[in-house]
Amino acid sequence: MPERRRFLAGMIRSLGAATVGGIAWMGFLDGKKSRPDILRPPGAIPEQDFLLKCTKCGLCVEACPFQSLILARPGDERPVGTPYFKMRENPCRMCREIPCTVACPTGALDRSLVSDRDEQGKRRLNVNLSKIGLAVIDRETCIAYWGIQCDACYRSCPVMDKAVTVEYVRNERTGKHAILAPVVHSDHCTGCGMCERACINQKASIFVLPRDAVMGESSARYVRGWESGDEERIEGLPDETETVTPRSEKKALDYLNKGDL
Ligand code: SF4
Ligand code: SF4
Repeated sequence: MPERRRFLAGMIRSLGAATVGGIAWMGFLDGKKSRPDILRPPGAIPEQDFLLKCTKCGLCVEACPFQSLILARPGDERPVGTPYFKMRENPCRMCREIPCTVACPTGALDRSLVSDRDEQGKRRLNVNLSKIGLAVIDRETCIAYWGIQCDACYRSCPVMDKAVTVEYVRNERTGKHAILAPVVHSDHCTGCGMCERACINQKASIFVLPRDAVMGESSARYVRGWESGDEERIEGLPDETETVTPRSEKKALDYLNKGDL
């Protein structure tokens, strides 16, 4: 049975059994109760806009040839009817034609976010532009960082040598060996989750999280002196604001002179 029909059948069964559970059902519909680590399909627009645009039609889920996408059901801790991944179980295979994105009729999955231009200037889909999430490594449990040779995540990466590289680091514990440490590069990582599935640990030591959950944002005022033209970027930025409070108005000496320190 196609995933969408299975989902609808399950939903109707749930509704039938839920005469007493009406209030709980409404709770499931409340996106606010959702987990903060939901991973959406390639081309997904920012989460708040996604929730407004996604009509829960399930066409993206049906279009996925690997059944990697799941339609959230009651109890999944995700807004019911919206598509998401469980990377450890079934990651995204990065289809070149990105059928999930193409199937979306509402723009919740926006193909312009996963498109660029070829040499002739023609628009084309490019799945490597996907930003499903970002892989993060727990260096305390990753055995490669212990000094044991393991490159399972590195080898599984579809953007190998760009999104995940292996760096030689001195093994401080032995003082004479090298550690072959996997390193993730956010500019190329698509968050496909192949590394998470490949990790040989009982619980993956490399896992995908939404990018805004793991990435900071530098102040716009800092200039990258080594990048040509970056200085021009800050021209015209408004002056820095200063917060003045009764406390900040006083100087340190004022407090010293009060003699009650
Ligand atoms: S890119 Fe392919 S494997 Fe990944 S979710 Fe879309 S259809 Fe499924
Ligand atoms: S195809 Fe688009 S609108 Fe339909 S469930 Fe998927 S993301 Fe939502």
